[in-house]
Amino acid sequence: MKMQSNHDSLFIMLATLYSVLVLSSSQDFDFFYLVQEWPGSHCDTEQGCCYPTTGKPASDFGIHGLWPNYNDGSYPSNCNSSNSFDASKISDLISRMQLEWPTLSCPSKDGLKFWGHEWKKHGTCAESILDQHAYFETTLKLKNKINLLHALEGAGIQPNGQMYSLESITSAIQVASGYTPRIQCNNDTSGNSQLHEISLCVDSMASDFIECPVLPNGRSCGSSVEFPSF
Ligand code: 5GP
Repeated sequence: MKMQSNHDSLFIMLATLYSVLVLSSSQDFDFFYLVQEWPGSHCDTEQGCCYPTTGKPASDFGIHGLWPNYNDGSYPSNCNSSNSFDASKISDLISRMQLEWPTLSCPSKDGLKFWGHEWKKHGTCAESILDQHAYFETTLKLKNKINLLHALEGAGIQPNGQMYSLESITSAIQVASGYTPRIQCNNDTSGNSQLHEISLCVDSMASDFIECPVLPNGRSCGSSVEFPSF
């Protein structure tokens, strides 16, 4: 009987040690932010913007990135320089990326540099669960699960240059998606706070949205923000 319980406790100890080791080595991050950008707010700044070589993007939120994060608010970056971006691995996704993940930086570009930057800085930190193709395809899929512009418009919040309360923007996304977003603002050329980026949190398997474990203070928005046209 004594022998049996010694065996049991040894088994429990080994099982605990194993799970601690396995969990700590496979847990490269805790969750993702899916970050989307309002093109009108990227363009309506001192810096301005340049339309992609493929043409003016739609008047819709565009993807900025899918960013692995830790629960304490910090995040890993540039995790594997040897896994370099290879456009040939995502050739079937390029036309969708041009529409849904446009680049607005100057001078005009086709998008490859922006996507390569996002893969190198953020994507390589999630390579334990997403290879390059899966990283970009999953990001597109997640974006299409929740239509941010419809959510805002459904609450009467339109990209028409008017001011809206930050509370009404947050609440419109909450009501439509079931999740609390992180809202970030930038300033237009007159210094007005404007709706720049909306982030939602995604579980560590990149399979579905979750309530954010942490909502860091982004650039402050002020209680009332402009939603510029595009
Ligand atoms: P982050 O480092 O925040 O993941 O990505 C921002 C980087 O991507 C910056 O270096 C920025 O110049 C570049 N970039 C290229 N195109 C875009 C764009 O359309 N929107 C944003 N926000 N950044 C872009």
